[in-house]
Amino acid sequence: MKTFFISHPECLAHRPPSAHPESPERLDAIDDQLIASGIEPWLRHREAPLATREQVLRVHDAAYLEALEAGRPDPGHWATLDGGDTYYGEHSLQAAHRAAGAVVLGVDLVLEHSTHTAFCSVRPPGHHAGRDYGMGFCLFNNVAIGVMHALEQHGLSRVAIVDFDVHHGNGTEDIVRDDPRVLFCSSFQHPFYPNTGADTRSDNVINMPLPRDTDGVALQSAIAERCLPALEAFDPELVMVSAGFDGHLEDEMANFRLVESDYEWLTREIHGIAKRHCEGRLVSVLEGGYELSALGRSVVAHLKVLTEE
Ligand SMILES: [Zn+2]
Repeated sequence: MKTFFISHPECLAHRPPSAHPESPERLDAIDDQLIASGIEPWLRHREAPLATREQVLRVHDAAYLEALEAGRPDPGHWATLDGGDTYYGEHSLQAAHRAAGAVVLGVDLVLEHSTHTAFCSVRPPGHHAGRDYGMGFCLFNNVAIGVMHALEQHGLSRVAIVDFDVHHGNGTEDIVRDDPRVLFCSSFQHPFYPNTGADTRSDNVINMPLPRDTDGVALQSAIAERCLPALEAFDPELVMVSAGFDGHLEDEMANFRLVESDYEWLTREIHGIAKRHCEGRLVSVLEGGYELSALGRSVVAHLKVLTEE
């Protein structure tokens, strides 16, 4: 199987004003491990287009987009979106349009070429961004923009999202909650940033709050008990993945104890759902993952499974 690997050099131009875990070096670390892994023959590289205003506005309020456009900082200056965590510089809006555009292209490619998957190696990440807010390093909700493109442009009626980032995908939940066309499954450390998701009551949201020090055995059991049966019953026409690798044992952003083999297991199970229900149609989108070596190795583990027969 081939996997489309979608990125764009402008995703690197979103640069922090000073040392920051969400840095351009994250994408370089992924590229380095790809080269070392020998997986290249199974990847098809594509450059991300810019998401259009229409595509972004399927998810975000016009006032939010216009505020970002009007507030674009001058060269060498930065603004922040939420108490200083989410920096916003001269090139950030362009990078955000590339990140969202990668996911839109991923959806288009996977729906055109069944049996192919796509991985979007992009930043800024997206799953904390809601309709009218950016937070947690996220400007646009890339996965939600891809989901709405699949539903409204391609006419799909059931899209599943699996979010295995160590943080709850609060922005994605806010956007898709109570939308019966979408099933959202999120595993996350709790209590922990952004301190949401533990009390959600919604038929289309499966939240799996897990304590600090959760290891692969505990995560696999939660996913097998709650997420996989819900995905099987939902019978998705497309599977989207918010692929955050910040639950890795070596990642100091959080306190899970996952390793590469756990990401392989997760990927194999999620890909299995896609193969059984929708000809393997799966679009995976990078979210977190801040320890550079662990991030690169984990993405390679994820991609190796996606390229398996
Ligand atoms: Zn995260």
